[in-house]
Amino acid sequence: MSRAIFIPRDGLHPVLDRLSAEMDVWVPVASGPQKCGGEFVRYVPGTVPVLERQSTTPPKRILLPQVESLLSYAYVKDPEDASRVKINLQAEIAAKPTVVFGARPCDVRGFLLFDRVFTGGPFQDEYYRKRRENTFFATLVCRQWDAACFCSSVGSGPADMEGSDLRLTPLEDGFLVEAINRRAHPILKLMGGEQPTKTQLEAAENLQKETTEEQVGTGDLTHSGDDFRGRFEDLEYWRSMVSQCISCGVCTFVCPTCYCFSITDEMQGLEGERLRSWDSCMFYQYTLEASGHNPRPSKFERYRNRIGHKFSFIPAKYAGMIGCCGCGRCIRSCPVSIDIRKVVENLKENACACS
Ligand code: SF4
Ligand code: SF4
Repeated sequence: MSRAIFIPRDGLHPVLDRLSAEMDVWVPVASGPQKCGGEFVRYVPGTVPVLERQSTTPPKRILLPQVESLLSYAYVKDPEDASRVKINLQAEIAAKPTVVFGARPCDVRGFLLFDRVFTGGPFQDEYYRKRRENTFFATLVCRQWDAACFCSSVGSGPADMEGSDLRLTPLEDGFLVEAINRRAHPILKLMGGEQPTKTQLEAAENLQKETTEEQVGTGDLTHSGDDFRGRFEDLEYWRSMVSQCISCGVCTFVCPTCYCFSITDEMQGLEGERLRSWDSCMFYQYTLEASGHNPRPSKFERYRNRIGHKFSFIPAKYAGMIGCCGCGRCIRSCPVSIDIRKVVENLKENACACS
């Protein structure tokens, strides 16, 4: 048995207070006017974590902020010779030790893809890398999937702990917290908590086993690359699949595996800041070139690219890894109810495009 502590339900706040005094702690909370949404926020004493349902937006902004300043710069003119200009650059990467407490396996799977994209090749994204090295995931064994979830269909599952550092198993009266790797030992020590009883350890083990055997989502979408390529030129198929799409981009912003961004320079006088902000491949402007040409001018071409990226191009590049974690957020959030599972399932030859 790995190192473990037990946190009673009414003992969660003291544990998070202790942790947040030493490091940044992010937790899911209720959000929106009716409090029926959910998002990850930085914990301060008094924050009420909501661990009983999946958050509406994933924790991706913790490691890939929605907008971040990459560097600031200032042009400095030589007072002796105005034609000579020097540029002063400043770049700071804030990477405080951070715990993401209460993420779900699908949330962490998004970061497994980000690891490959931002740090897996010859060019490293230092901003992401530094934050990632300082981030620990305390991940829930998920028991609250709904009709939109399909993590098992994309090669994961509700008890998948790949990429996590600590496992949180929800029990009737609290949580069993286990360190999955050595780097998590100091975090567990900081948390404090109680020594788990034999009964609690057994109950947690049973729940983990039971959850591992669950099949969340029907069908297997892990080998859809060939189907995608077979349907690539079937323009009627793609048009019919996204005829209702309004190109709002919500599906990409709520997606834990979408990482498109754009870079802009904001200048005032001789000073400026270089910003990285989330972007969306569902926007017309995303691929608009300076010449006015757009290689993906219509929404069906943009959506086809989105599906191809997740189920064909990413698996081809990253040893079969699917670029979708099956969290179902795009299905729940799409204002016109486009269901990515149907689009991918229907790629199969002879499948009816209208189902
Ligand atoms: S495509 Fe949809 S279901 Fe897949 S990871 Fe993104 S939001 Fe989740
Ligand atoms: S959320 Fe739905 S309507 Fe909006 S861009 Fe995505 S598929 Fe289109």
